[in-house]
Amino acid sequence: MKIPAKLKRMLTQLGFLMIVAIIAWQELHRPPIKSPSDAYPYLTSISPALVKQCIHENRTAPTIPLEELIAIRSTIPESEAQALINQLKNQVPFSAIDWGLLSKVTQNKVKRHKEILNQYTYYQPNVYKFPVIGTTWFGDSFGADREGGIRRHEGTDLFGKEGTPIVSICGGKVEQLGWNRLGGERVGIRGDDGNYYYYAHLKSIATTLVKGNRVQFGEPLGTMGHTGDALTTPDHLHFGIELPNGQWINPYPFLAVWQYWDEEKGS
Ligand SMILES: [Zn+2]
Repeated sequence: MKIPAKLKRMLTQLGFLMIVAIIAWQELHRPPIKSPSDAYPYLTSISPALVKQCIHENRTAPTIPLEELIAIRSTIPESEAQALINQLKNQVPFSAIDWGLLSKVTQNKVKRHKEILNQYTYYQPNVYKFPVIGTTWFGDSFGADREGGIRRHEGTDLFGKEGTPIVSICGGKVEQLGWNRLGGERVGIRGDDGNYYYYAHLKSIATTLVKGNRVQFGEPLGTMGHTGDALTTPDHLHFGIELPNGQWINPYPFLAVWQYWDEEKGS
């Protein structure tokens, strides 16, 4: 049987349209790529006050994991969050939550945030240690202008008395040790989590440290000072976190929570 040319053209067009439709459908229903690039923007966006609120809540309802509380409270408004948390309080597992009218996109966001909080344990108790032993005060100055806007502040400054002990926030390896122009006496630790932790302007560096050797969680690194470009500023520890890709992230929210965990332990 001979197919008329017109029909042939129509069939070709139909086939083409079907292929386009299938590709479009697959694209729409493809699971989102779990790129870790969404992890740090999320983690650093959570306010320390919210984390503290969740820590308190976790104390009154210890069966609800902290990361579930933070994931819910940091992603959706209070009015909707409470309905979900009430279910968790009534022993409904996270995987069986009735999301009510919340969109699929929002549901997936909460789930992804929970995943991030499980994987990156900055807000969990006793995984990281607050680096200053003693009285200190600090604010969120990440990204502030330095040297008249030539560069930006890539860390947090923790002020205190000269000589205040500084300890390692985690276990890792000594990668940098000694003097540089900006940092003065500084220590750089490659944490076991892969990130680089930078402690600068120290008055003195602990003599126990050797480049390439391991340091433990909470191990003394040195004492607070004002060396390097902090020569004319009040004594402070400049603390920085650099990801393996070279990006510096804001340590402030983590520091605020670590300090809180330490104070809770001490009280
Ligand atoms: Zn600084």
